[in-house]
Amino acid sequence: MIIMAKKKGIIKGDKRERELSWSGKLYFPEILKGMWFSFKHIFRPTVTVQYPEEKIELGPEFRGRPVLVAEEGMERCVACGLCARACPPLAISMQAAEVDDPKERYPERFEIDMLRCIYCGFCEEVCPEEAIVMSPDYDFNFRSREEAVFGKDKLVFDKEQLKPRLDWLAKKRNPNFGKVYKFDHTNNIHTLRNRSELKQLKDQN
Ligand code: SF4
Ligand code: SF4
Repeated sequence: MIIMAKKKGIIKGDKRERELSWSGKLYFPEILKGMWFSFKHIFRPTVTVQYPEEKIELGPEFRGRPVLVAEEGMERCVACGLCARACPPLAISMQAAEVDDPKERYPERFEIDMLRCIYCGFCEEVCPEEAIVMSPDYDFNFRSREEAVFGKDKLVFDKEQLKPRLDWLAKKRNPNFGKVYKFDHTNNIHTLRNRSELKQLKDQN
């Protein structure tokens, strides 16, 4: 039976309490051990990055701030609201409007509250248009709550700028896509993701 006696905030008699050896009670050998450990690191290669003067290149798997993908000067987003629905901290809000385009709708207003965003990537996962992706950008700041709400001026990027992430998603998301059955690419052309191909098909017919 563990006898617990609380005295001056110390729990005595708890079996979880570590028993110090004789040398441990002296402290001095432990201090020397610590200093020796630090000394050895002087001769090892430096891995510390002097941020913010130095920055590291991050791979496409890194989940930085979410951004919107633009295709031919227009965002792919159709303002379906799925990302806003899936976002755990309710960081996304948008207002849809209609357009004269096969996509029919676009987000007139699209905002992400970066004080709320937890970089979970759920928005990217649920988006049916591959219109919102996690960018490599981790270096941004704001001085007020209002500034932390990023609108389309800060969110929209051309797909070429986001190519590493889009390519990585295409490879990792569904590696069996089109491989396990007789795949006809033209049957799987997406109205938004493959606009240029869609135009070509229309011209041919
Ligand atoms: S990354 Fe997560 S928290 Fe951030 S906007 Fe997307 S769903 Fe919301
Ligand atoms: S980013 Fe994707 S999921 Fe979110 S509203 Fe636009 S199309 Fe829908």
